[in-house]
Amino acid sequence: MKFQSTRGKAPLVSGLQALMNGLAPDGGLYVPAVFPKLDFDWEKLKDASYVAIGRQVLSLFFDEFSEAEITNFLTEAYENFDYPQKVKIQELDSRKDLLELFHGPTLAFKDMALSLLPYLLTAAIQKTQHKETLVILTATSGDTGGAALNGFNNVTQTKIVVYYPSVGVSKLQRQQMTTASGKNTHVVAVTGNFDDAQKAVKQLLIDQELIQRMQARSLRFSSANSINIGRLAAQVVYYVYAYAQLVQKGRLKAGQTLDVTVPTGNFGDILAAYWAKKMGLPLGKLTVASNANHVLTDFFASGIYQADRDFKVTSSPAMDILVSSNLERLLFDLAGADSVAGWMKDLAEKQTYEIDDKTLAKLQKQFNAAFCDSAQTSQTIKKIFTENNYLLDPHTAVAVAVNENFPSPDQQLIVSTASPFKFAETVLTALGQTAAADPELNLNKLSQFSKQAVPAAIADLFTKKPVHTQKLAIKDLRADLIETLGL
Ligand SMILES: *Cc1c(COP(=O)(O)O)cnc(C)c1O
Repeated sequence: MKFQSTRGKAPLVSGLQALMNGLAPDGGLYVPAVFPKLDFDWEKLKDASYVAIGRQVLSLFFDEFSEAEITNFLTEAYENFDYPQKVKIQELDSRKDLLELFHGPTLAFKDMALSLLPYLLTAAIQKTQHKETLVILTATSGDTGGAALNGFNNVTQTKIVVYYPSVGVSKLQRQQMTTASGKNTHVVAVTGNFDDAQKAVKQLLIDQELIQRMQARSLRFSSANSINIGRLAAQVVYYVYAYAQLVQKGRLKAGQTLDVTVPTGNFGDILAAYWAKKMGLPLGKLTVASNANHVLTDFFASGIYQADRDFKVTSSPAMDILVSSNLERLLFDLAGADSVAGWMKDLAEKQTYEIDDKTLAKLQKQFNAAFCDSAQTSQTIKKIFTENNYLLDPHTAVAVAVNENFPSPDQQLIVSTASPFKFAETVLTALGQTAAADPELNLNKLSQFSKQAVPAAIADLFTKKPVHTQKLAIKDLRADLIETLGL
């Protein structure tokens, strides 16, 4: 299996190389040169474990690894998840199921890919006999940072650098990042939003002068953002597993259409659903759920991507994004590299681009898109708790609310991306409770109110002392990197 860049100006590379590079040298994102097809024998798959399905999916993407190697990676990566099946399907009503992807160590769906990525990356370094240390450069809106720091904690031949926006992340997310203890971690708050951080990281990743200085020190860049192909491949797995489980439970007949709604920020999670569909999974409409930063809703309606607008800090911070990276992979699939290269150039220069009508029609055939503001998000948390005795986190609540806009005869799967305890303050307020200033107190309040235990993974989080207290302007990140890496 080879991988190509969405901008068409970089050489084809192996899966191992694509994993290590993160971003393609022409600034594009790696996608499979030819899409693999899955062999769906639901009679078998419906009883298969998460690891078994993962092995089948990931072998198609990364054929340089043996099935036994992939099985080991998956087994170790998900060992400390707090749910034996790794992901949980929760019935909401007769036609809707939630797919809980937050049973990993940092309580958000980012763990699904970022627990696995270090195994893929270190094995790729070994197989290609690279002697360099990988510098994993990461911009985060809050959840990627924690999950990447956890996944790469003290992993040999890696250094992990995380830039998070100083405003917008929850207190718990901040605590997860600033207390990261690994000797190979570097965490910095940046004055700016996620878009500023992501843009800076993308520029650094292809900064030739920096890359040369790093080579002299036997260092090389990679990425833990969803621009890394390893994250997307890992995310395809749970859609296949969820489908198999719904067949197992009798919620779906084998081959029946399943619609999927995904709370969306950088478009990585929903793109994985699209890829699963391309690989043959019987998915129907894919619904892009956004918050008040509804750049994607507008784009799917008009074909005009307009990033030049006010950035809003909302109650679902992981979706506070105006430049959604992985959309580029979808556009590549529908319109090809030349169109994508032109649109991305427009985006970089004018903060906007407009796709042609044919591509827009193709998009609209496969996707729904809508948004919900913070007030509706709160109401949805309250409604679902009152009616279903089920606690939603604010990101999942956005998806549940948006899903209501699109009545459909098909079964619905709504992706649940974070534990409500990760956003206890917002959830308590939505439930009409008074949130305290102390985030630890809010965990206990939410636990008492909902009669659910605080997840063990964060039970002693607030006893840890923050060790990463640096705060920098975006323009100083390059100099900081040079200093940190001793370049
Ligand atoms: C990252 C994140 C999202 C958005 O996922 P994308 O892949 O960026 O679209 C949604 N919810 C939560 C809780 C997240 O951490």
